[in-house]
Amino acid sequence: MKHSIAIDGPAGAGKSTVAKELARVLGINYLNTGAMYRALALYALERGISPSDESAVSSILNEAVISVKYEGEEQRTLLNGRDCTEQLRSEAVSMATSDISRHRAVRDRMAGLQREIALRQPLVLEGRDIGTNVLYDAPHKFFVTASAEERARRRQKQLDKLGVSAEFQTILADIIARDRQDSGREYMPLKRADDAVLIDTTDLSIEEAVEAIKKRIEGA
Ligand code: C5P
Repeated sequence: MKHSIAIDGPAGAGKSTVAKELARVLGINYLNTGAMYRALALYALERGISPSDESAVSSILNEAVISVKYEGEEQRTLLNGRDCTEQLRSEAVSMATSDISRHRAVRDRMAGLQREIALRQPLVLEGRDIGTNVLYDAPHKFFVTASAEERARRRQKQLDKLGVSAEFQTILADIIARDRQDSGREYMPLKRADDAVLIDTTDLSIEEAVEAIKKRIEGA
């Protein structure tokens, strides 16, 4: 794990894009850990199980085999061997994921899987508890954030591109609700590790954020 880079932060801060670009520049793979939680949430929804029901969710943990593979630089997420990557970004899956990721059994399972993947290769890991839990001993930790308004603006742009129109206030409320759930959960909440470097992307381009991170890594 000595080559791992931990990137945490709230939804929509540009974390994924930054992590992906950083991995590309460094010539290593990246792991979007949110996709793994999302795959489990998708499985629960498909099985008709409420993501908030801890004991029901615990009982399906062994059935839902989640893994990742790489196609070039692209991470593909597999659910019982089926590539479910395209199904993971819907709003329904996003909210279900925030619910399901509160459970201790879920987090422990996912953290174990993530550590196994990180043991096999140098990796940029992106999530909510990488620097505080999954790889608390990672040599490089970053907390990437941006104001809620800026994150909502970015999300609206993304949705526009997909031809989906949504009210700014609705998107903003959604982001704030997800922040609250992620930061407020009892077990392993979203939190900046004491030794993580803060990268505020509100006024930074992706390239500038990646450059700032790269400099810290090279200078460390
Ligand atoms: O990163 P992404 O927005 O795809 O993550 C979706 C959800 O998964 C988050 O809102 C959070 O609830 C959960 N998650 C988590 N821990 C991680 C990654 C994601 O709790 N390491």
